[in-house]
This record gives sequence, structure tokens and C-alpha cells, in this order.
Amino acid sequence: MTAPLRRLVRETHLHASQLVQPLFVAEDLEQPRPVASMPGIAQLPLEHAVREARELEQLGVGGIILFGIPHAKDERATSAWDENGIVQRAVRAIRETTSQLVILTDVCLCEYTSHGHCGILQGERILNDATVEVLARVAVSHARAGADIVAPSDMMDGRVAAIREALDSEGFAEVPILAYSAKFASAFYGPFRDAAQSTPAFGDLKSHQLPPTNFREAIRDALTDIEEGADMLMVKPALPYLDVLRELRIRTEMPLAAFQVSGEYAMLKAAALEGWLEESRAVWESLIAIRRAGADVILTYYAKEIASGKLHYEF
Ligand SMILES: [Zn+2]
Repeated sequence: MTAPLRRLVRETHLHASQLVQPLFVAEDLEQPRPVASMPGIAQLPLEHAVREARELEQLGVGGIILFGIPHAKDERATSAWDENGIVQRAVRAIRETTSQLVILTDVCLCEYTSHGHCGILQGERILNDATVEVLARVAVSHARAGADIVAPSDMMDGRVAAIREALDSEGFAEVPILAYSAKFASAFYGPFRDAAQSTPAFGDLKSHQLPPTNFREAIRDALTDIEEGADMLMVKPALPYLDVLRELRIRTEMPLAAFQVSGEYAMLKAAALEGWLEESRAVWESLIAIRRAGADVILTYYAKEIASGKLHYEF
């Protein structure tokens, strides 16, 4: 088949407008601090994050998702819903200087708790309902700052309904919720925890994240999120869970997102830096696989390099 003919019958496309670049905004930094396990990615001071967002907008990237690294952490994650918290300030500043970029915010507590868990603890146990109440407060504070989409990543029971209710009653009925619906307890989050400085001080997150073994449980959780009022669903990580993504594509009409997580990025980057993989081709093949399985939107640390044309591949 000739190249023009292959182009003509191509079934799956990847555009920068479908990509969301994660940004780590750190309150205490003066200069970007590279993340060792994620070459090319750095924690950014606020002004740098604003500049980066503008650049991503100019490149045609669809959106950004913000993760905050606050100055202060405590047991109750109070900096997570502070009106002048790092994410809230970043949203306001980016909102002022961009108009085409969709601003998503990660709604969780693990970056803001001194113990690094996603919720309020009693002893070593997470209190579901107390946590959900705080998450709703966080989501409202993000919406008030100007976030276009709030994305709860905690996996607590009932959090989508509680966040929906809180947003509606505070006048943010039009702000959609992207639920991390199928979030698996995964080794592939390792580099992110370096980047977000949110490694749990003890224990792990197996109590509320999905076991990699359970496909049906993932689908059930995702369908529950729809009933609770989620506007978009996410599968995370992406490549190891394409079956889940595919099934949700068949079972729902909702927009679907997939998160190509830090470990997926780190694997590709490390192999590319060693010269063991052809980076452009491997990255495109991975992202196309995620699109082909059913993702409308892909959150990926490669968004900028794809959008800028630095990584280009023609199948
Ligand atoms: Zn968390």
C-alpha cells in the first residue's frame, strides 16, 4: 500500500488537542527541579508553570492537569483546599494568561498529607466519609479558582456524588467531573511519587485502589461513578489496562480518558536514552494503542514532545 493510500484508510488518529500534559507546581521552588526518574520532567515554580502552560497552549496541546507540591503538609491536608494554596494560585494565574487550554486539577489529599495517604486517617485506617467531605471542599476550591474540570483520584466510596453535590450547591453546576474510575494499585506510579513527593510514610494504597487482577470490579466501579454523576471516566495506568478501557468504550457513551502514567513514561524514556528503542515510533505506537482501545483523551508526559513535533512518526 502506498503512503497516501495508508493515510486514506487510517482508522485511528492522534492529535495534540486530545492530549493533556501533567504539570507539577511546587510552592517552595525558585528554579525547576528535575525529577530524576522522569528525564525531561521537572517540578516547576509557579511562574515557570504559567510560562509552560502558555507554551503548551501555543503548541496546541488540549489541556494540562495540575498537581501541587505544597509548602506545608499536615494530617488533615488543610493546604489542599486553601484558597491561596499552590494549585488554586496556579489555576488563577494560568486562567489569566491562556484561553484555549483546558485546565484540569487533580483532587486528592496524598500530596498534602504529612503521612502521604489519600485520606484522613484514624490510626492507620482511612476514614472514608471524613475524607470525602474534605475532597468536596478541595474540588470546590479548584472550581472557584477557575478549573475547567476537576479530577478526583482518591478512589474513596461516594466521592463523585459528594463532589457533584458540593459543586452544584456552590454554583459550579457546569464544572465537569473526570473520575479516576479504574485506578489500579500499580508499580507504574513509582516515578510520580518522586515527582509529587507523596510516597506514603507507611503501608500502601491497596485498600482503595483496584487490584490488577480484577477486571469486573473495575468496570463495576466505573459504572457506579457514572451513576454518581461523573462526566468523564479515566483508566489508569493506560497500557497495562487496555482491556478495561476497551470494555468501558463498549459499555458507556461517556468520554473516556486514559493516563499514561509516570512509570510508562519512564520505561520508554529510559530505553530511548539507552538507544534500545526508537523513541518516536514506540511512543506513537503506545499512544495510538490507547486511542485505539477507546480513549478520547490521553494524559501523558509526552504531550509536549508530540505537540511540538519533536517526536513524529508516520505509520
Ligand atoms: Zn492520592
